[in-house]
Amino acid sequence: MNIIGRPNVGKSTLMNAMVGQKLSIITSKAQTTRHRIHGIVNTPDYQVVFSDTPGILEPEYKLQENMLKAARSALVDADVLLYMTEAGMKPDEENDFIRRLQKSRVPVLLVINKIDLSNQEKVTKAISLWQEVLPKAEIIPISALEKFNVDRVYKRIIELLPESPPYYPKDALTDKSERFIAGEMIREKILMQYKQEIPYAVEVEIESFKEDSKLIRISAVIYVERESQKGILIGNGGKALKRVGREARLDMEAFFVKKIFLEMKVKVNRDWRNSERQIKKFGYH
Ligand code: GDP
Ligand code: MG
Repeated sequence: MNIIGRPNVGKSTLMNAMVGQKLSIITSKAQTTRHRIHGIVNTPDYQVVFSDTPGILEPEYKLQENMLKAARSALVDADVLLYMTEAGMKPDEENDFIRRLQKSRVPVLLVINKIDLSNQEKVTKAISLWQEVLPKAEIIPISALEKFNVDRVYKRIIELLPESPPYYPKDALTDKSERFIAGEMIREKILMQYKQEIPYAVEVEIESFKEDSKLIRISAVIYVERESQKGILIGNGGKALKRVGREARLDMEAFFVKKIFLEMKVKVNRDWRNSERQIKKFGYH
């Protein structure tokens, strides 16, 4: 079950609404989701694996090439495809993927998101435009943010998915490790708190993650590309970074339901976004 679409249309918001946990970080900046993340819903009768993908875009950096590969791979290995667009976006702005969807052998759900920002007339028009380009797709207008029609999308996915043995253990919530989730929580706060190039220049590595009965101790390294970015990230008297740490820690405590001790270091790793080796090391494949 794969969710694809252009950056920022609301893919991660929808996946989180369906999985019911904040797995995939969401911000108003495009390209927030860099990896493919699986969200898993388990019930006594079924397991659904949702796959959130980085948005589709033209690569500028090596990192983006890898992100695009992750989005493309989503087209080949799913049982159901969910293509997300938003009210106000025209089909012809999304050419390349539409051609692939037209050839898709698995059912396609076309979800028009953010209808809370639109009106009935515009939504009706968008539906008929999309019906023309994708006659076989089932079209559902939703608002992922306000959870309007999210249930309907979820129900259709369950109906369309073929029966097969579960892919993950029944108690799994995601294919990503706890380390990964902790790292993403830090990255989300950085994305929200800083402007301009900082959000795109950082990567977070969790050096250690140690859990005992009372506490989880997490050490993180935040990599930036230049010395000047390090200064901005840390801020006056360390204030800016402290805020990142505090907010990330609160999210982690809510997620892991445990007290968190979070330690963060900032290091300069020149030009990591263009280094194949570094990108691999950070887990982009
Ligand atoms: P992604 O890049 O496709 O994963 O998009 P995100 O899920 O990260 O969402 C991008 C932005 O759109 C965030 O600011 C969301 O809060 C916002 N958003 C998502 N769904 C809706 C919606 O239904 N209505 C409105 N108004 N905003 C939404
Ligand atoms: Mg996303």
